[in-house]
Amino acid sequence: MPQHLVWLRTDLRLLDNPALFSAAESGHVTALFLLTPAQWEAHGIAAKKIAFILRSLDTISEQLAERGIETKIILSNRFDDAAHRVLEVAKAIQASRVFWNEEIAINEQRRDDAVANSLSNAGIQVERHHAFTSLPPGSVRKPDASPYSVFTPFKRRWISLSIDRGIHTFPAPKGQGPTVAAAKAPDTVGGIAKTLGSEDWPAGEREALKLLDRFIDSAVNDYDSQRDLPDLAGTSKLSPHLAAGTLSANHCIKAAYVRNGHRLSGGNPNIDTWISELVWREFYNHILAEHPRLAMGRAFKPETDALPWYHSSEQLERWQRGETGFPFVDAGMRQLNATGWMHNRLRMVTAQFLAKHLFLDWRLGEAYFMSQLVDGDFAANNGGWQWSASTGTDAVPYFRIFNPVRQAERFDPQGTFVRRMIPELAEASPKQTLEPWKFGGVGGYPEPMIDLGAARDRTLAIWKQAKAT
Ligand SMILES: Cc1cc2nc3c(=O)[nH]c(=O)nc-3n(C[C@H](O)[C@H](O)[C@H](O)COP(=O)(O)OP(=O)(O)OC[C@H]3O[C@@H](n4cnc5c(N)ncnc54)[C@H](O)[C@@H]3O)c2cc1C
Repeated sequence: MPQHLVWLRTDLRLLDNPALFSAAESGHVTALFLLTPAQWEAHGIAAKKIAFILRSLDTISEQLAERGIETKIILSNRFDDAAHRVLEVAKAIQASRVFWNEEIAINEQRRDDAVANSLSNAGIQVERHHAFTSLPPGSVRKPDASPYSVFTPFKRRWISLSIDRGIHTFPAPKGQGPTVAAAKAPDTVGGIAKTLGSEDWPAGEREALKLLDRFIDSAVNDYDSQRDLPDLAGTSKLSPHLAAGTLSANHCIKAAYVRNGHRLSGGNPNIDTWISELVWREFYNHILAEHPRLAMGRAFKPETDALPWYHSSEQLERWQRGETGFPFVDAGMRQLNATGWMHNRLRMVTAQFLAKHLFLDWRLGEAYFMSQLVDGDFAANNGGWQWSASTGTDAVPYFRIFNPVRQAERFDPQGTFVRRMIPELAEASPKQTLEPWKFGGVGGYPEPMIDLGAARDRTLAIWKQAKAT
């Protein structure tokens, strides 16, 4: 039987893993994962996300061991080392073919091309699959073959292509023999403990499936009415799993499709909305693949690269610490700092506060989010930031600026979330949680760092001038 090597990356799962499935169909499989702490640091990946990956690695390695498949976990440090490392392992097990599922960003693509070259030069075949999004990047295009840059027509086309193709997932790979010893990820990598965040974020495929089942069985039915209320558990919280690949987007889409009576749109409006959110994830990943410059710090709208952003490390740090004096913004930032996750409504509010009210470069916020998020995903984070800053594809218009007080009135009217996240306001009344400065300050909570109206006017004036030139 031929020996096959499966290089695992953002696909730490048995189900709907085409590379793993295909390899096991035609050969004897060994799995490989490269730990790349220097690269993770260079990409500014959050410690909590790295710890989540390490725990997920333990889980998949156990699952594979039960199927007679050995996992090799090797320290490789940077992407530059990957070609050498993968070739070394492939030769050691006498692999005739190496399988992997593609990653989308430019550095990952370059790394993979280098690995594919070195393997081909050594006479080893490469089989590249696609599993990070439901439909492969480049496959959802306009009739004239150009890429979409607006979400709604993208979604329409995505739905029609998905229906034509059928909503399929790959089963788990077949077993290869008696159980083997399971490898374990090191307890610390690059100074990051594997246990970091383990109470908030149980890792691995089994946990992801439990969460998906629970959500699809009940919570999804209230998604429309609850998904914007940060105080409630109204969303799936599957994002860390989708980002690490312990669950595939395709798997979520299939579960929602089945629950919706085999419909991708219409049917139960709550499920329809949830599917739309998953399509946003598809959209941003496709946009990234079509426009690699986005991974090089460039705005989607090139003209916005010339905006005269302000520079203030003091203001940036107050925003990062959640000490802006605007409770809804600060509650979001403190949720992020404490847990590694932030509710979507607050991601939009905090991002707009940075890029619109403070008029600081959105890239600073993007990098800070990435450095904290357990679900950090380059495409979704970049897309969310550029949407908020009005520099992106299909972004909010520049003159639409969320007022954090009005947002709190709509989405946390009793101040329950603010009280939970901000100890200084734990005893505050609902009105005090909205505008504590009107009560002469509450519980030592900071004064507002800016005048909202003046900041808004200043930003609008800068944008208007930039658009006129
Ligand atoms: C400034 C900003 C930064 C963001 N950074 C990230 C990030 O790094 N990683 C990330 O996964 N999401 C990011 N998002 C999108 C969104 O906030 C999260 O996906 C969502 O909050 C995750 O919670 P959930 O799993 O409970 O989502 P649910 O509401 O249950 O949605 C299900 C899944 O759909 C996807 N999804 C939902 N909303 C979006 C969206 N607007 N864009 C893209 N995908 C979406 C996610 O994979 C999510 O897990 C960002 C949004 C903004 C505005």
